[in-house]
Amino acid sequence: MLISLEGKRALVTGGNSGIGEAIVDALSEAGAKVGINYVVHPETAKKIVTRIRGKRGEALALQADVTDPGAVAAMFGRMDEAWGGIDILVNNAGIDGGRALSWEADGGAWRKVIEVNLMGAFYCAQQALKRMISQKSGVVLSISSVHEIIAWSGYSAYTASKAAVGMMTKSLAQEAAPYGVRVLAVGPGAIKTPINRSVWSDPAGLKDLLSKIPLNRMGEAEEISRMVVVLVSDVASYVTGRTIYVDGGMTDYPDFARGG
Ligand code: NDP
Repeated sequence: MLISLEGKRALVTGGNSGIGEAIVDALSEAGAKVGINYVVHPETAKKIVTRIRGKRGEALALQADVTDPGAVAAMFGRMDEAWGGIDILVNNAGIDGGRALSWEADGGAWRKVIEVNLMGAFYCAQQALKRMISQKSGVVLSISSVHEIIAWSGYSAYTASKAAVGMMTKSLAQEAAPYGVRVLAVGPGAIKTPINRSVWSDPAGLKDLLSKIPLNRMGEAEEISRMVVVLVSDVASYVTGRTIYVDGGMTDYPDFARGG
């Protein structure tokens, strides 16, 4: 089966690092024009634009802090000016906020995680859906996490934000479905990126992590980006309102492999 996104106009938030960068590359390889959003690292975004243009693809680096609705609106305005709109939004920008037990957590840091992971995804989805509803086509895909459904001590803001992204996805999918617009999410397991460097660079932390993954290895960013390309394409034309987990079996209660 050949998947082509030829002529589609895509935007990936946090597209300059880790999973977002892999999604940008995969969308571009499938033929899409890709807007690469970043917040504080223009050099990485511009390097990716150069790489894509070197392969005759189309890409734009778009600075915006997704927690700022005015900046988000301006970013979508730049997509309109360059390409006349948007067909695919990937809400990928996210932070984990660092580990802190709830009674020791700083309120501002907790709120920041919600602002980036949830409010940022909402502001971008709102701008995208305005355009997709009127053109009666499009896909909004958010990168959630296995922590949409798995608790994580010390990361209550992160788990709360991802659980909320899951339910926001379902509700927006109901709103958009009558217009032929799909809204869905991908929930990655442990993928080796800068966000979790402290875990995979520590042998004891890595051993503990692998004990939670039936496939017994961390995932690669490309294993997420390939699934994203499938889900935003017409191959997945009947999939909406769901989080699809790409996690090596992490959400399958691996402890039960040894009996229950
Ligand atoms: P990275 O730290 O590599 O990338 C995070 C990205 O988010 C960066 O591009 C960063 O931009 C961007 N970003 C952060 N804050 C903002 C903001 N306010 N506005 C715009 N962009 C922002 O992490 P990953 O690639 O690992 O994570 C990507 C997504 O995947 C996140 O939503 C994360 O929760 C999710 N995820 C990751 C997993 C993993 O194991 N890696 C597992 C499950 C989910 P900049 O570089 O400019 O700061």
